[in-house]
Amino acid sequence: MDHAVERRVHMEQELRGAWERGELSVVYQPICRTSDGRVVGAEALLRWQHPMLGMIAPSVFIDVAEQSGLIEGIGPRVLRMACEEAMRWACMGEGSERLFVSVNVSPRQLRKGDLPDIVAECLRETGLPASCLHLELTETAVISDELQAAAMLARLHSTGVKVWLDDFGTGFSGLSHLRRVPVDGVKIDRSFVADLQRDPDDLALTTAIIAMAHSLGITVVAEGVEKEAQYSLLAERGCDLVWGYWLSHPVSATEFSHLLARRGG
Ligand code: C2E
Ligand code: MG
Ligand code: MG
Repeated sequence: MDHAVERRVHMEQELRGAWERGELSVVYQPICRTSDGRVVGAEALLRWQHPMLGMIAPSVFIDVAEQSGLIEGIGPRVLRMACEEAMRWACMGEGSERLFVSVNVSPRQLRKGDLPDIVAECLRETGLPASCLHLELTETAVISDELQAAAMLARLHSTGVKVWLDDFGTGFSGLSHLRRVPVDGVKIDRSFVADLQRDPDDLALTTAIIAMAHSLGITVVAEGVEKEAQYSLLAERGCDLVWGYWLSHPVSATEFSHLLARRGG
């Protein structure tokens, strides 16, 4: 067997049952509103601590989970855990505002068709208000089947949750696309943010995305803000929400609660 294929098969075997063995966990990265600098929510990110191999990057194992179908079991568990956690933040938002949690949904989960039911059940069982749950879909997943995605989005919206388009700008989607597949927010990809100060084209593109999204009533989020200068540029141009290492790395649920308490919730 090809070495790469062999590694993949091995990883798939290891990933099977990883949740039950307690190797998978969810960390939270604070999301900040530029208008007042407050933490208004967090993105839930999956982590895999393998007993022998150590921490495995999501970019590696999420793909294996997606290709093998294991994500169909893992995804709903992440959703459930994130909703339970967000319920604990109920009274911890700055100025008693409720925080939202944002959960990544893979293309396979989107295609499967039972996502709205899973979401509705999760909200019902955890008691989390629908407005406190945001789902992040990747641009490529939405583009690959626009019609099905639009129908799925309508069903998801009927549960009351918000839907964001992740990694926006990397999948060649444009205005017309946003009209056919209505989302509540776009997350400008990290690659644009990284070069904001150096590359006038990236600054122009980002400014245009913000203006375009706002004219459609869509929230704009920028990911991967690592420097104060990037934050200032984005805030100046009206980007609504930002997050990145400059504000905080992803942290455990406990650390996130401490962070909220420190900020004077
Ligand atoms: P994403 O959804 O675009 O998540 C943002 C990624 O950027 C995260 O990487 C986060 O740790 C990282 N990041 C945040 N701020 C900064 C920054 O300032 N600088 C840099 N260099 N990176 C930053 P992570 O946790 O490794 O996740 C990678 C991808 O794996 C995610 O990209 C998402 O597509 C996927 N993923 C993670 N958790 C889940 C999950 O529960 N389900 C699904 N389907 N996908 C997930
Ligand atoms: Mg995301
Ligand atoms: Mg992203």
